Amino acid sequence: MADSSDHALAYRVASQTGELLQRMLDEPAPARRGSASLEHAADRAAHEFIVKELAEHRPDDAVLSEEGRDLSSRLSAERVWIVDPLDGSNDFGWSAHWSVHVALVEANRPTAGAVAVPGWDTTWATEPTPTPIMSRVGDAPRVLVSRSRRHVDGRVLQRALDAEILAVGSAGVKAMAVVRGEVDAYVHGGGLYEWDVCAPAAVAEAAGLVACRVDGSELCFNKADPWSPGLIICKPAFRDRIVDAMSVRRY
Ligand SMILES: [Mg+2]
Repeated sequence: MADSSDHALAYRVASQTGELLQRMLDEPAPARRGSASLEHAADRAAHEFIVKELAEHRPDDAVLSEEGRDLSSRLSAERVWIVDPLDGSNDFGWSAHWSVHVALVEANRPTAGAVAVPGWDTTWATEPTPTPIMSRVGDAPRVLVSRSRRHVDGRVLQRALDAEILAVGSAGVKAMAVVRGEVDAYVHGGGLYEWDVCAPAAVAEAAGLVACRVDGSELCFNKADPWSPGLIICKPAFRDRIVDAMSVRRY
């Protein structure tokens, strides 16, 4: 099982990758900001840094990275790090809504992880346990959805929960908005990849939140196909209503 050094490693690697990416944003001429070449260079640099750190400090562990080759040897490994070096790359250089995901998976479940959101100057991890830092007023539940699914998931949840719907990019940023108490839920009805979901789910569960598939079933990681069918991260009190709302066929 993960020990305290795994939690600390996830925290440090996610944080330092975030710092590296922030430096890349701060250094180039403004004209490069938001360019495809900057996104590509950022993806590569972040991936290479994470892989180097894990190879040095956890040489026996496998790695599944959005930016790396998927080696089938990970399927028989006892410990697999699932990482997204830069989640929300469309926002990189344009907004604070991008993040770095680093998580350790054992027996198909995340056992340690961290999400860095440099634009919010914070890294959340499975240890020390996150505590909500924001309080909010108002009765209507606030739900974050993906920009691409605003008119699908957002509409369903607005009707079923009378919710206020907000949409931003990065999955990690949306999940951490729930962790810090800014919103009540993050719901994604479509497909994601394990590197989008794994570290945010690890941190959310450590914070006492629900993290499950959109049908309410348990998340499963290090599958042969890293596709991940939907995601709910929410305060426990909202879980059943969201699962019910999302189960209704809409077409
Ligand atoms: Mg990415």
